[in-house]
Amino acid sequence: MSYETMHRESIEQPEKFWAEQAKAIYWHKQPEQILDYSKPPFRRWFVGGQTNLCYNAIDRHLAERADQAALIAISTETNTRKTYTYADLYREVNTFAAILQTLDVGQGDRVVIYMPNIAEAVFAMLACARIGAIHSVVFGGFAAHNLALRIDDAQPKLLICADAGMRAGKVIRYKPLVDEACAMAKNAPPKVLIVSRGLDADLTTIAGRDKDYHALKSSHEGREVPVAWLESNAPSYLLYTSGTTGKPKGVQRDVGGYAVAMALSMRTVFDVGPGQTMFTTSDIGWAVGHSYNVYGPLIVGATCILYDGLPIQPDAGIWWQICAEYGVRSMFSSPTAIRVLKKHDAAFLKQYDLSALKYLFLAGEPLDESTASWIGDGIGKPIIDNYWQTETGWPTLTLLPGLELKKIKLGSPGLPNFGFNARVINEVTGADAAPGEKGVLTFVPPLPPGCMSTIWNDDERFLRSYFSHFKELLYSSLDWAIRDEDGYTFILGRTDDVINVAGHRLGTREIEESVATHASVAEVAVIGVRDELKGQVPIVFATLKIGSLEAAGKHDAAIGMQQRVVDLLGGIAKPAHVYIVNALPKTRSGKLLRRSLQALAEDRDPGDLSTLDDPAALEDVRAALLRGS
Ligand code: ATP
Ligand code: MG
Repeated sequence: MSYETMHRESIEQPEKFWAEQAKAIYWHKQPEQILDYSKPPFRRWFVGGQTNLCYNAIDRHLAERADQAALIAISTETNTRKTYTYADLYREVNTFAAILQTLDVGQGDRVVIYMPNIAEAVFAMLACARIGAIHSVVFGGFAAHNLALRIDDAQPKLLICADAGMRAGKVIRYKPLVDEACAMAKNAPPKVLIVSRGLDADLTTIAGRDKDYHALKSSHEGREVPVAWLESNAPSYLLYTSGTTGKPKGVQRDVGGYAVAMALSMRTVFDVGPGQTMFTTSDIGWAVGHSYNVYGPLIVGATCILYDGLPIQPDAGIWWQICAEYGVRSMFSSPTAIRVLKKHDAAFLKQYDLSALKYLFLAGEPLDESTASWIGDGIGKPIIDNYWQTETGWPTLTLLPGLELKKIKLGSPGLPNFGFNARVINEVTGADAAPGEKGVLTFVPPLPPGCMSTIWNDDERFLRSYFSHFKELLYSSLDWAIRDEDGYTFILGRTDDVINVAGHRLGTREIEESVATHASVAEVAVIGVRDELKGQVPIVFATLKIGSLEAAGKHDAAIGMQQRVVDLLGGIAKPAHVYIVNALPKTRSGKLLRRSLQALAEDRDPGDLSTLDDPAALEDVRAALLRGS
C-alpha cells in the first residue's frame, strides 16, 4: 500500500487502521474497543486490551532469538564494550525485577532512574515495565535541583542511581547529587538503589535507605518474575520535556498504544526489523532514548547499540567505527551532534567501511542545509530529518524510508506520519494557512497511539498547554511552520522565538539557515532583541569551524554572515550585530537556549538555567556582549 493510501486510511478510518497495526505486538488479552474518544481531546487506544512492554521487548523473542544480540553497551569513557543476548537480557531484567519487588515496588508505583547510558539503566527501565511500575528517567548529570523537581512531581517509591557517570574522562559523582536532591524534595523516596561501578571512591550511603544493587543481585540471580498484564491505557512511564521553553512537563505514556507505535515506526520510519542493528546516539534520558535506544528496537527483535561517551572520543571517527564493526543499518542522532563533528576534519567520516549503513536519521532541532550536506557528502548516505516532540513519542513528520523513501527536500522533515492529521494554522485568523504561508503546526485530535495520554497528575495543564490555542480543538505543537504545495512541512522555529522586525515576522530558523551557509560557520543562534525603531532586530551568535580563520579575520567573517542574510532573505532580515563565541548555550539535550541568549542580550536575568549544559558557554556570551563582537 502506498503512503498516501495508508495515511488517508489512518485519518479517515483510524479504528480500522490501528486494529491492523495492533497485530504487530503480543496481546495477552485482545482489545475490546480500538478507540474511545468520548472525552475529547483525551483518547484511549486499544481499550480493554492487556499487554506488557517488557514481554514484547524480551520474552516474545526468546523462542527465535535467544542467542541474538539484544543490547550492545559501549562506553568510550570506561573503555568497555559488552554484548547482551536476548537470553542475557531476560536474565538481567528478571533479576532486576525481583530486586524491585523486594524493595517494595509494585504496579503503579513510580521509580526515578538517574543513571548514565549504561546497560543497567536499560535493565531498570524494562524491569519496571515488567512489574507495571512507572519509570521516570531523569537525565543523569542534571543538577540536584532538577532532580528534586522531578522527584516531587512523580513521588517515587524508589530512586535508582549510579554511583557516578563520566564525561570526557572526568568522573561526575551522582550520589551526592541524589542525596542533595532527596534533602530538597518534599516527596523523597524511602529507598535508593545504587548501581556502583566503583567510580566513586568516596561513596557514602545512608543506612536503611540506600541499597547496593550488586549485593542484592547476587542473592536474586536466576529469579524469574511473572509479567504484570496491564490494561493498554495504564501509564508505562513519565518523561519530562527538555525545558527549552520553561518548566518541564511530565509527559505520561501508555502501554499498548506506545508498543504499537514503536512497532510501526521501527518498520516504516527507521527500516529496522528482526536481527538488524540500530545505533541511536541519544541519552536514555530523552524521548529519542526511550523510544529508539530501548523500546522500539527491542519490540521488533532488533539489536540496539547504547553509547556512553562523547562523539569525538577517542577521535571524531568513533561513531563510524562502531557502525562498521557492528554492521549498523540505521543510525539515529541529532543535528547538534553532527555540528560537533563538523568542527573536525571530514576525513574522519571516510575511514571506515559503512556498506551496511542505509540511513542516518537526525531529529531534535532544525537540520540546516549546510550540516545536512556536510554529513551527507561525508558518509555518502541519505540523511533523513524527522520531526517530533517528547509529547508525541515518535516521529510526526518523516519521509518513511522503510515504506517508500519519499523525495528529500532539504530543510523539511517531510510528510505527516500515520495518524497525524497535520494542519498549519494562521495564528491570527485561526484558518488554515495557504501553501507557502506561515502558521502554527497543529494536529487534529484524537492523537494517534504512542502520543502522551496527559500531563502526569495535571489534566488541566495538558488541556491548557496544548489544546487551548485556537477556536477549534487542535493540538498545538507550539512550532511555527510552512507547508508547501506537495505537503512537505518546514519548521521555522518555536512560536515564542519569532522575531518581529518593523511588523515583519521572521523565523529565527530562516536567518540561521542563511548565516550557516557562510563557509566558516560551525554553529549559529539567531535571536530578536528590543529595538526602539523597529520593535525588534535579529542578532547573531556564531561559533566558527576549528582552524577556519585567524582572530584577525573575525570582523570579516561577521560582515560576511550579515551579507549572506541580506543576499538570501533581503535587507529586512539583516542581523544588527554578529557575536563570535567559542560555544553556544544549550540544554543538556543539545537544544539552543535562545531564551537565555535573548535575556542576556537585553540585559535581563537569564532565568532558569537548570537545564543548561555548559555554564562556560553563557560566560562566553556575556564576554562577547561586553566586547561588542
Ligand atoms: P520544552 O517543551 O520543555 O520547552 P523541548 O520542546 O525542547 O522542551 P523536546 O520535546 O525534546 O523538548 O523537543 C521538541 C521540539 O524540538 C519540537 O517542538 C521542535 O521545536 C524541535 N524539533 C524536534 N525535531 C525537529 C526537527 N526535525 N526540525 C526542527 N525542529 C525540531
Ligand atoms: Mg516542547
